[in-house]
Amino acid sequence: MLINLTDYFKNTEKSDIIDVEPDVEIVDVGYTKYPVKESGIYKFDITNNKDDRVKIVVKGESKVVMPCDRCLSDVICKVDVDSEFVLDEPTVYEESEEEAEAFMNGYELDSDLLIHNELTMGLPMKVLCKDDCKGLCPVCGRNRNEGDCGCDTFVPDPRMAAIQDIFNAHNKEV
Ligand SMILES: [Zn+2]
Ligand SMILES: [Zn+2]
Repeated sequence: MLINLTDYFKNTEKSDIIDVEPDVEIVDVGYTKYPVKESGIYKFDITNNKDDRVKIVVKGESKVVMPCDRCLSDVICKVDVDSEFVLDEPTVYEESEEEAEAFMNGYELDSDLLIHNELTMGLPMKVLCKDDCKGLCPVCGRNRNEGDCGCDTFVPDPRMAAIQDIFNAHNKEV
């Protein structure tokens, strides 16, 4: 959704809270993309800041599907957005070297791009399907939360291994 901010820059009394239904289907973090399962309604509180600027407060939440750090199964992560921006009028950027926010194109604010960028920054650093996730078997790759695959993942002490060889040899003889 594009929101034209011209009136909010020109009219010092202008202030609105706009409901935005995001059209953001993926969160692209460069090296990978995460699907967005659902988003609530976002509130864009847009106000003339009385100093030739416009203040925007954005609040909302989305559910993003990310893989568990250990077993790679899908985890639905709630990501909250609560951000504030104070924007200079677009004409300022034409005269200076400063760059406008990526979500601004002239007087038009791209709400989907703004929400997308806030989601990329709000993603959790650690994702676990559950606190005691057992992860994947390093031998066969099976999800160990779904049961024991029976692989021998025990790494014996090398000194014990030598004794075990003798023990195994003895068992074969019997
Ligand atoms: Zn897991
Ligand atoms: Zn296994």
